[in-house]
Amino acid sequence: MADSQAFDVVVIGGGPGGYVAAIRAAQLGLATACIDDWTRDDGKAALGGTCTNVGCIPSKALLQSTENYAHAGHGFAEHGIEISGLSMDVGRMLARKAAIVARNNDGIAYLFRKNEVAFFHGRGAFAGRDGDAWQIRVEGAKPATLTARNVIVATGSAPRALPGVAFDNVRVLDNAGALAIPDVPKRLGVIGAGVVGLEMGSVWRRLGADVVVLEALPVLLGAADQAVAKEAAKLFAKQGLAIVLGVHIDKVTVGRSDVTVDYTDRDGARQTAKFDRLIVSIGRVPHTAGLDADAVGLKRDARGFVEVDDECRTNLPNVYAIGDVVRGPMLAHKAEEEGVAVAERIAGQQAHVDFNTIPWVIYTWPEIAWVGKTEQQLKQEGVDYRTGSFPYSANGRARALGETSGFVKFVADAATDRILGMHVIGPWASELIAEGVMAMEFGASSEDVARIVHAHPTLSEATKEAALAVDKRTLNL
Ligand SMILES: Cc1cc2nc3c(=O)[nH]c(=O)nc-3n(C[C@H](O)[C@H](O)[C@H](O)COP(=O)(O)OP(=O)(O)OC[C@H]3O[C@@H](n4cnc5c(N)ncnc54)[C@H](O)[C@@H]3O)c2cc1C
Repeated sequence: MADSQAFDVVVIGGGPGGYVAAIRAAQLGLATACIDDWTRDDGKAALGGTCTNVGCIPSKALLQSTENYAHAGHGFAEHGIEISGLSMDVGRMLARKAAIVARNNDGIAYLFRKNEVAFFHGRGAFAGRDGDAWQIRVEGAKPATLTARNVIVATGSAPRALPGVAFDNVRVLDNAGALAIPDVPKRLGVIGAGVVGLEMGSVWRRLGADVVVLEALPVLLGAADQAVAKEAAKLFAKQGLAIVLGVHIDKVTVGRSDVTVDYTDRDGARQTAKFDRLIVSIGRVPHTAGLDADAVGLKRDARGFVEVDDECRTNLPNVYAIGDVVRGPMLAHKAEEEGVAVAERIAGQQAHVDFNTIPWVIYTWPEIAWVGKTEQQLKQEGVDYRTGSFPYSANGRARALGETSGFVKFVADAATDRILGMHVIGPWASELIAEGVMAMEFGASSEDVARIVHAHPTLSEATKEAALAVDKRTLNL
């Protein structure tokens, strides 16, 4: 007999959107439950969703391990450090990654206990409505029925497969498979040069795989500033990451020990490539399976995203949806901010998410990060702007680090000098971009950033110099 419990808020999905929403709702004094169905190999709950289990966290763990390996192999000699017999134990690297993931899973469970969020391990589905309360069924080892006035759908996304080519995670890998390859493939194919494709391609390239990335679009990183994309293409080529643009995939044939990809290149010529494994990273689709969304008439758009307004309200009363399952960038921090905002709205507060200042990061080496508009976007919009760039090759700290590739670039309104975008390719771009986000949130001008004291010697001085460059008055170039 399933027990029934009443809450103010039930959150379905315990990824970064859902678990953060649940914590914030509980902090605001709302009786909150979160249901999540992710399960570890040992049968235990694994809170944190895609991000923690097969996304942000494990990918960064592998990127760090392989960056260390690459630096030890190629970057240490100039410091006078000679290493002989350098080797990589892939098993240990994967075990480290798994331990980091488990620590994060357990950390979220601890946060739930600390904030008194009731956690239910299993699948959550709409079961009906009783007065103004929604009934939610929990299907799992301990079935339950929950009731709540407010429901937050945070069921995330799933990898998109190539039509007719199912993921088997042996030869044809999704993100989970790409993060768990047990040994370094000799020939690795990657379809899709987006964030995931470039990050995963980098991981296995650094370990010695011959990596070929096949991308349908005619340009690399179309959403990034094109100066950044151009620099990235140059640096990736130097690292041996072969990126083929403008391809059309004709056929993928999965063999016992390899995968054959037939494609047409940008010149219309037919090509064939054979790989030991193939990562397919062509985007993700919203995940609503198992939610019984139709039973209650939860509206989705033609692509399967739950339809929401600017405040994440769905077509159903007091039912909200956040994160990857709704429109907007599929990023963990976007999901989190939507979660916080929705919890605050439920508690009667005014909340706001500024979609113009959501930072993007690609954790290749060097890293790529940006916030706001690119030059090409501003041109299209007919906005008059000025730019300022500063290369890391002229930054003292970057020289000391031995990381002189890349630059920082600002775009600012020509009339008001208000910062419209910041673009970085270089060491620790992921950390440096926070200054641009902060500046934009506060409506800063490039002169504001240029007049702020930046510690010396730091990479952030390149940010200050790029801001100075908008007014053509760099000091160190
Ligand atoms: C390889 C990779 C690397 C990435 N790296 C980054 C990065 O560096 N930075 C970044 O910002 N983003 C990154 N992302 C994207 C990020 O992972 C997602 O944007 C983020 O996880 C979305 O959060 P979410 O809460 O909306 O959904 P999810 O994280 O997908 O969580 C949804 C949860 O809901 C559960 N669920 C679904 N349906 C039900 C149901 N009916 N009942 C119960 N539970 C259910 C799912 O099992 C899952 O646990 C990466 C993604 C991938 C694939």
